[in-house]
Amino acid sequence: MGKDKYQICTNCVMDTTDSEINFDEDGVCNHCRRFENEIKPRWFPNEEGRKKLNIRINQIQIDGKGKEYDCVIGLSGGVDSSYLAYVLRTEYPELKILAIHIDGGWNSELAVHNIENIVKILDIDLYTGVINWEEMKDLQLAYFKSQLANQDVPQDHAFFATLYDVANKYNIKYFLTGGNFATESILPSSWGYNAMDERQLKAVHKQFGKIKLKDYITVGFLKRKLYYPYIKRFKIIRPLDFWNYNKNEAKEIIIKKLNWRDYGGKHHESRFTKFFQAHWLPTKFGYDKRKAHLSSLIVSGQMTRKEALQELKKPLYNENELREDKEFLAKKMGLNVDEFDEIMLQSNKTFRDYPSNYELDKNLSILKATVFKWLKK
Ligand SMILES: [Zn+2]
Repeated sequence: MGKDKYQICTNCVMDTTDSEINFDEDGVCNHCRRFENEIKPRWFPNEEGRKKLNIRINQIQIDGKGKEYDCVIGLSGGVDSSYLAYVLRTEYPELKILAIHIDGGWNSELAVHNIENIVKILDIDLYTGVINWEEMKDLQLAYFKSQLANQDVPQDHAFFATLYDVANKYNIKYFLTGGNFATESILPSSWGYNAMDERQLKAVHKQFGKIKLKDYITVGFLKRKLYYPYIKRFKIIRPLDFWNYNKNEAKEIIIKKLNWRDYGGKHHESRFTKFFQAHWLPTKFGYDKRKAHLSSLIVSGQMTRKEALQELKKPLYNENELREDKEFLAKKMGLNVDEFDEIMLQSNKTFRDYPSNYELDKNLSILKATVFKWLKK
């Protein structure tokens, strides 16, 4: 494929802004083919899924006997996690759930309002982890200066590190997440590097940070790849992959039942994430995450390609909102708008420009696959 030639998939709306995309002779992209061949066989939006989910929840409850909680769920206040909380509470009322919310300092007021409502109405215990803001600010600014595409790393890493930490403290083995194939099966890996790479996070902070990270917890490679999954036997389950999950229907339900209010965009529950997805990524890197999200909805049958193309014509930001958000972000990170703009203009970097565990991770995956194959013989 010629790198300079623009091409868009004939089935979804992914295009050559994903540098690693490829198309077959019908013009269908690798993401669509992967959905058909690899994801569909693991996706059960039907009765069969319901049975599989029942078996899993049953096992979770058996393992949770005598414990304060059976499982943890992450609660961001977005549609997926809010709906997951609703489904679990109404379908499995006996399940002992601990909801975890991480406040990285960027929550919109609306997100706080939504989360408070959800736990009150559903009567779910909530653990709120508040990240030390001075440290978070230093790390966030370090990432900003690093010019890496994925600016969500400080928030995402803190979220998972805290989730593991709390689960460990309460001796809970199961994480139930709102992650799902129905609405987010497509996301090109070239658009954002793994937020869980502790080595990269520390390297970026060492180069650009100013203060020591004392309270900010991280998850190291061995802990994440060996200790938690094989010694502690933590398991991640995605109930919405065993559910007929439809985003629009889910939204209607949580609006009606949980008094939930819409943010107006995916992941816009955080003002930072909104800026990052609707401005930083598209203007600096040419990545429009809406394309991945809308394509996911197309392949799962929740939207037509025509509707998606129409949606993409809408502007990412309105001018006033952009100016306000920029001022807000700059101030919060301790910069004036000129300094902020100056950083925006510096040249982009990739994860390969900083130390990482990328190779180690890749080799471990190959080793794991080889061992599994050998064990199957
Ligand atoms: Zn496609």
